[in-house]
Amino acid sequence: MNVYDAARMADVLAPEGFAETSDAEDADLVVLNTCHIREKASDKVFSELGKLRMLKEARRAEGKTLQIAVAGCVAQAEGAEILRKQRAVDLVVGPQSYHRLPEMLRQAEHGPVIDTEFPVEDKFDHLAQPSAEKIRQRGVSAFLTVQEGCDKFCSFCVVPYTRGAEISRDARKIVAEAEHLARAGVREITLLGQNVNGFHGAGEDGADWSLARLIERLARVEGIVRLRYMTSHPNDMADDLIRAHGELPALMPFLHLPVQSGSDRILAAMNRRHSAADYRRLIERIRATRPDIALSSDFIVGFPGETEADFEATLALAREVGFASTFYFKYSPRPGTPGAELDDQIPEAEKSERLARLAEILEAQRHDFNASMVGRTIDVLFEKPGRHAGQIAGKSPYLQPVQVDGPASLIGSVAAVDIVECSTNSLFGRLVSAKGADRRRGEAS
Ligand code: SAH
Ligand code: SF4
Repeated sequence: MNVYDAARMADVLAPEGFAETSDAEDADLVVLNTCHIREKASDKVFSELGKLRMLKEARRAEGKTLQIAVAGCVAQAEGAEILRKQRAVDLVVGPQSYHRLPEMLRQAEHGPVIDTEFPVEDKFDHLAQPSAEKIRQRGVSAFLTVQEGCDKFCSFCVVPYTRGAEISRDARKIVAEAEHLARAGVREITLLGQNVNGFHGAGEDGADWSLARLIERLARVEGIVRLRYMTSHPNDMADDLIRAHGELPALMPFLHLPVQSGSDRILAAMNRRHSAADYRRLIERIRATRPDIALSSDFIVGFPGETEADFEATLALAREVGFASTFYFKYSPRPGTPGAELDDQIPEAEKSERLARLAEILEAQRHDFNASMVGRTIDVLFEKPGRHAGQIAGKSPYLQPVQVDGPASLIGSVAAVDIVECSTNSLFGRLVSAKGADRRRGEAS
């Protein structure tokens, strides 16, 4: 979501005359779009700000200026504290107020400005749409935020505090944004939300639409051939959404469904409101609907009070379910969350040891999943030139990067590829001739 937000900040600043640069030395304005989810991400902000202060001072010595803005969830969580910790900062803007950036930049010429409100107006109504050229530069696969915020209050998580209450965007505006993207050449859209499957936005018929309903509508937008969504909560996997995985060819067979732990005791302490058995049953139902679905998850190890037995329950769940791709984290106590107040915090060394044991299982699963593609023919959406001249790169339906020798003219289209080799994170293959692809697809269906 930060990638999407950063693009939208660039969109809102473009009419002001700003263009993006990847080099801070080149910039009149640097916006750090920050993450507060774990301590490490949060700490990084202040070390970056230290470097930017030096750049600003060097600039000033030359009689020039550099404006520094801190956006995102650290801005939201720390607000004025950021200005106290780093005086070089001109502007602090929360994730719900960045549509006000142009106005804030003008104010900041007269002294530091902070906006961490959750405004009543919808920021999306105030964001300029990117030009077709800008959309094309960003590529054929785009993000689109449909839902923001969270009311679930898992006891480890800062999101409900930094992103605010759960809101769904109006489905009609989402459809319009998707059509705008598709007209510029976007072929794949990933719908974003902290609890994206809790989506319930007003639809074209005036009724509240579920995520499944929205996906079904977006699948009919001309030019859109692939749809994905993230991140989902297990308790919001509605029947119609599970069904959609079996019925809509555009909905890709990949699902990121965080479980966090395999221990019921820890899941309860995390306030996840489901058991490990509930998760296993849910996975069974999803797999019954879409047998080839690739699953991905998030795990946290070392939540306060996690015993060896609790951790082994997590290992057991990971082994049993089998994931194609996973994220795993050491528990990071976050200020203001109930988890941070709990006794029985787990020592860092123990968290590291558990993380390594879990990683061993999950990385082996990732490898096995990638290896299982070798010898198969799969559809690839080509997104960009490959690593070497004459190569193009794209993604499999299961979100794996795929490289082939092929013409740049294929970028933006889906073609069948024979997978011949895999590495830890990528697949390598050969384009199947158009005729062969049709035949093979015919066989598969
Ligand atoms: N809304 C999603 C996840 C949002 S945060 C969900 O409900 O699953 C993304 C991931 O960061 C979480 O799934 C969790 O695994 C991890 N995470 C969040 N807070 C954390 C913390 N305090 N310490 C370690 N990992 C954390
Ligand atoms: Fe955080 Fe997700 Fe839990 Fe919400 S549901 S509190 S975003 S982990």
